[in-house]
Amino acid sequence: MSTAPDSATAAAAPAYRGRFAPSPTGPLHFGSLLAAFGSWLLARHAGGEWWIRVEDLDPPREIAGAADRQLATLAAFGLVSDGPVVRQSERGGHYQAALDDLLARGQAFFCHCSRSELAATGGIHHRCVASERRAHPAVRLRVAPGTVIGFEDGLQGRFVQDVHAEAGDVVLRRADGYWAYQLAVVVDDAAQGFTDIVRGADLLDSTPRQIHLQHALGLPTPRYLHLPLIVDAEGHKLSKSMAALPVDADDPLPPLRAAWAALGQSADRLPDAGGVPALLRAAAAGFAPERLPRLARMTFAAAHNTPAADAV
Ligand code: GLU
Repeated sequence: MSTAPDSATAAAAPAYRGRFAPSPTGPLHFGSLLAAFGSWLLARHAGGEWWIRVEDLDPPREIAGAADRQLATLAAFGLVSDGPVVRQSERGGHYQAALDDLLARGQAFFCHCSRSELAATGGIHHRCVASERRAHPAVRLRVAPGTVIGFEDGLQGRFVQDVHAEAGDVVLRRADGYWAYQLAVVVDDAAQGFTDIVRGADLLDSTPRQIHLQHALGLPTPRYLHLPLIVDAEGHKLSKSMAALPVDADDPLPPLRAAWAALGQSADRLPDAGGVPALLRAAAAGFAPERLPRLARMTFAAAHNTPAADAV
C-alpha cells in the first residue's frame, strides 16, 4: 500500500532500529539531549541502529536554521544518524497517500467544527457540531466508542487509554492545511522501519492513538519506551519553561555526564579523561538499562544533583 517502505528511507528489516525525532522549534535543551542520548544508548545496547528525523511540520512554530543547528549540536555530542536524515516537510506525498486511503475506506472524514464549537467538549471531537461549512476543513480519524488501546511500555509498564473518551477523533490534517504530528509520525515510523520508539514521557498519552492509527492503516506497531520527562521546579516541561537553557555544544562533556546521571547510570563507568568518542564508547559498553529511572517526570534539579538511581 501507499505507506509501505520506500526506497529513500527503508532498508532490509533490522533487529533494532531506533530514532530521535526533534521538532526544529528552538535549540536543543537538556530534555532533548536526554531523549537523544537515551535512545542512542538503548539502540547501541541492542546492537542496533539509531537514526535522526527532522519533524519540521509546523512552520509557524519553527525557527529558521534550527534544524541544522540541532543536527550540528547532536554531532558535537557524537550523536550522528546511522541512516538518511529524513525531513518531514519533504514527505507530504506519503501523508496524502495515507489520508486518501483512510478517506476512501471511510475511516477518516472532513470536519468543519471550529475550535470554539469544540470548547464545550474540552476540544475532544466525538461528532461534528459545525454550524457552517468551512472552505478548508480539517480531516480527522474516526475513533469509535469503546476504542481502548493498551501497550507494554519498556520502562513505564502497561499503559491503557480509552482513546475515544480521552482523545476523540484524531486530527490528521489541520484546518490550516498542515499535516498533524500523529499522522506523520505513524507513516514515517513505519516507512523508515523503526522497531523501537524511545522518547520523552510527554508523548506517552499520544502512543495509544498512534497504535490505533497503525491498526487503521494496516501498519506494524513498534516497541515503545518513554523516558522520564525533565520538568522544572514548578512541574513545567523544560522546553516550555525559562529553564530550557540550550545545551552547550562547545563543551559537550558536562551535559553528556549530566544526561548519563539523569538516566540513572553510574559515573564510575565513564572515563575522566578523553573526548566525546571515548566517553560514548565507554557509555555504550557500560550502559545498564535496568538502572533507568521509572518515573514519568523528574525535576531538573534532581536530574543534576542526585544519582537518579536513588529516585527509583
Ligand atoms: N517531534 C517530537 C518532539 O520534538 C517528538 C516526536 C516523537 O519522538 O515521536 O517532541
